Amino acid sequence: MTETSAVAETEQLVAEAAGKTDGAAPEGPQFTLELNQDQKDIREWVHGFAEGVVRPAAEEWDEREETPWPVIQEAAKIGLYGFEALGQFWADETGLTLPIANEELFWGDAGIGMAIMGTSLAVAAIFGQGTPEQMGEWIPQCFGTADDPKVASFCSSEPDAGSDVSAIRTTAKYDEATDEWVLNGQKAWATNGGIADVHVVIATVDRELRSRGHAAFVIPPGTKGCEQGAKVKKHGLRASHTADVHLDDCRIPGSCLLGGKEKLDERLARVREGKRSKSQAAMQTFEASRPTVGAQALGIARAAYEYALEYAKERQQFGRAIIENQSIAFTLADMKLEIDAARLLVWRAAWMGRSGQKFENAEGSMSKLKAGEVAVWSTERAIQILGGNGYTREFPVERMHRDAKIYTIFEGTSEIQRLVISRAISGVHVQ
Ligand SMILES: Cc1cc2nc3c(=O)[nH]c(=O)nc-3n(C[C@H](O)[C@H](O)[C@H](O)COP(=O)(O)OP(=O)(O)OC[C@H]3O[C@@H](n4cnc5c(N)ncnc54)[C@H](O)[C@@H]3O)c2cc1C
Repeated sequence: MTETSAVAETEQLVAEAAGKTDGAAPEGPQFTLELNQDQKDIREWVHGFAEGVVRPAAEEWDEREETPWPVIQEAAKIGLYGFEALGQFWADETGLTLPIANEELFWGDAGIGMAIMGTSLAVAAIFGQGTPEQMGEWIPQCFGTADDPKVASFCSSEPDAGSDVSAIRTTAKYDEATDEWVLNGQKAWATNGGIADVHVVIATVDRELRSRGHAAFVIPPGTKGCEQGAKVKKHGLRASHTADVHLDDCRIPGSCLLGGKEKLDERLARVREGKRSKSQAAMQTFEASRPTVGAQALGIARAAYEYALEYAKERQQFGRAIIENQSIAFTLADMKLEIDAARLLVWRAAWMGRSGQKFENAEGSMSKLKAGEVAVWSTERAIQILGGNGYTREFPVERMHRDAKIYTIFEGTSEIQRLVISRAISGVHVQ
């Protein structure tokens, strides 16, 4: 068979498999990885902001270790920070726009990216567990306005409850006389903790039920008894504020229980009867957000890869560009390969989440695990390719490496993702 006829035969086979032998449009959904115009436009728009505003500010805010309010405000002014933007990203039924926007923003800088996107974790909790009225009331308040932007915080972790969410000790007790919930406890490592207007707090209403006794509460702005504790000094992601949050007899209206009391009482009754509960407050929020977090890690990995690629073409040693050495060129090839592979996992999980597919094999966890590990590995390789320069603060890849490391730790460590995946694929309660 000639090469041309082999190609023609292959095309015919593909066409037949797609049910497209007579030029008619194929029936049913088509698989495509080509982005539509809206997705491309949003990608360009976010990339423009990342390149023009975020990247140039990255070093300064990393050194200052402060929330970059002026950058958040600029993002709010162009409509990139706010519930309308998040709503627009979420509206894409393929699920891809949210990870695409995150990848581009974090390509600019992860610390500033998190200062802008950190609010969305609290929003995801309200969106996932709140009633329509609660969403309408609280989600806009999470962002404030373009002139006066605010941030929100999602507080689940505690000093003794990190990976083991079921060990949460913060209590929420209902005061029937006043129709108020009273919260007491200490939250740890909360992104935007204490500087947020709206805090979403996971607390236990019945400790005996462990994670099935958890519920999510909105702490309205200015509530007494909700205070910032120690601010955390960090290895990376330093433009993003992280702090403890103390809750001391913190009284909030009964209506601040996400989902409402009736639904909670029903769920607790089901659990006490030994029936399975459909939801575990913190876990639901994490499941929905894992591909987005993976996309953030991808943005860092891609930024480091692109920087290292350009550097390797420019840097001369032994009379030639260092990229002419296979060890450098192959490393860059592997970086590109790993990043693209991670993106496919992220997009798959984002599509599954948005289209309501069941995560049979913990595909959300797979995406976050792979992207986080690729980000750590790629940024470390980028430092190696830049040599001495890579190790200095004069070049951005060392910051990218510091930023990348958190992606194997928060939103479930790599070990916890492997635990989730291994349990899902085996049905065995792997310890
Ligand atoms: C910058 C930053 C921002 C954060 N933002 C937030 C936030 O906004 N809201 C929030 O609620 N939390 C937040 N966190 C907390 C974060 O989610 C936790 O740090 C994370 O879940 C890990 O918990 P831990 O630190 O207690 O580690 P630990 O749970 O103590 O784990 C320590 C080590 O033991 C391993 N390990 C634990 N259990 C097992 C097991 N069963 N099998 C195998 N290995 C295991 C872990 O993988 C890890 O390597 C943030 C943390 C940081 C650093």
